[in-house]
Amino acid sequence: MNTKNIGFNTICTHFGEIKDQQFKGAISPIYLSTSYAFEDVETKRYPRYFNTPNQEALCKKIAKLEKGESSLVFGSGMAAISTTLFAFLQKGDHIILQRAIYGGTANLINEEFKKHGIDFSYVDSLSIEDFENKIQSNTKIIYVETPSNPLLSIIDLNAIGALGKKNGIITIVDNTFASPVNQNPIVLGIDIVVHSATKYLGGHSDILAGAVIASEKNVNQIFEVAKNFGGNLSDFTVWMLERSIKTLGIRVERQNKNALKISKWLQKNEDISTVYYPGLKSHPNHELAKQQMKGYGGMLSFELKEGLSADLFQKNLKLIKSSMSLAGVESTILSPHLTSHALLKKEERSSQGIKDELLRLSVGIEEKEDIIHDILQAIEKVKKQY
Ligand SMILES: *Cc1c(COP(=O)(O)O)cnc(C)c1O
Repeated sequence: MNTKNIGFNTICTHFGEIKDQQFKGAISPIYLSTSYAFEDVETKRYPRYFNTPNQEALCKKIAKLEKGESSLVFGSGMAAISTTLFAFLQKGDHIILQRAIYGGTANLINEEFKKHGIDFSYVDSLSIEDFENKIQSNTKIIYVETPSNPLLSIIDLNAIGALGKKNGIITIVDNTFASPVNQNPIVLGIDIVVHSATKYLGGHSDILAGAVIASEKNVNQIFEVAKNFGGNLSDFTVWMLERSIKTLGIRVERQNKNALKISKWLQKNEDISTVYYPGLKSHPNHELAKQQMKGYGGMLSFELKEGLSADLFQKNLKLIKSSMSLAGVESTILSPHLTSHALLKKEERSSQGIKDELLRLSVGIEEKEDIIHDILQAIEKVKKQY
């Protein structure tokens, strides 16, 4: 197979796979061994060295999907993110972050970085000028997330990549929400991509994993720290993730379609006051999303009309499950003010545009009519009880 120009779904299904030479089985065999015979001084295979046969096979696939040279997979998204950050930051360094980043990443920064003497600045806006104004002589990393959680705002990755290059600063994007189906930050000039593979890459709400994709040189630097921190993914889960990614393309294409249709329907519904979805023309960053994304993703948020309880609404849903996580084949929903953003004060939330009426929907692969019907019947119940 000429693998240079193979298409996305073919990469998902086949790329990197281990050929079963012994029995000619159709899928990669799983090698659970934690100890391997010494081949030579260079090749010591061991799970915590990130070089077992299944780890190497999966990393080839993930790197190819993100159009990067190399990748590593980790035991969680946070293991990938923390290891990557600590690989490039040391005492006295400075990092610039977008304000609207994943709560766990914000906790890592806010709770751990001071202890290690690493300085950080948040940028409240999406303006590249505001990022530029925060650059100091010791700035080593610019870190962003797009689409962001929970309002799905879009930041200009081309411009962030260029800003990093101009100033010799490494740029990192958390590409979890978009998935490689919809966005490849490396092609847009970003240095490093991180993923919570727990979300779209896994896609079935049964795997906790993370990944980082970058140049060979940057991945080697991350590996040197990773083997010390020991955050590798177990080979059984590596194998599960390889299997899950086979359907990544078709899952996310379907979720894109469902989310676009549902967001348009929500926008027309008079009991919904606002809908946040980058695929809607009304979204403030729609034009930018159109330029840098191939699809708009399966995540959307909306606000019920004032006075309608978001809590009661969720309790009356029958098909859509209330759940902390996201990106599974099943539709799930959460109320950010009660969950992901519960630790913030109400004023902090409102300054970030997160109201109590806001709900974040992770659109699954079910029939869109059934999802819409579920939302409709729950709204009717809330109105009756109101
Ligand atoms: C879930 C998530 C993470 C953290 O991943 P874990 O696998 O839970 O450690 C990081 N970034 C984003 C955007 C996420 O949604």
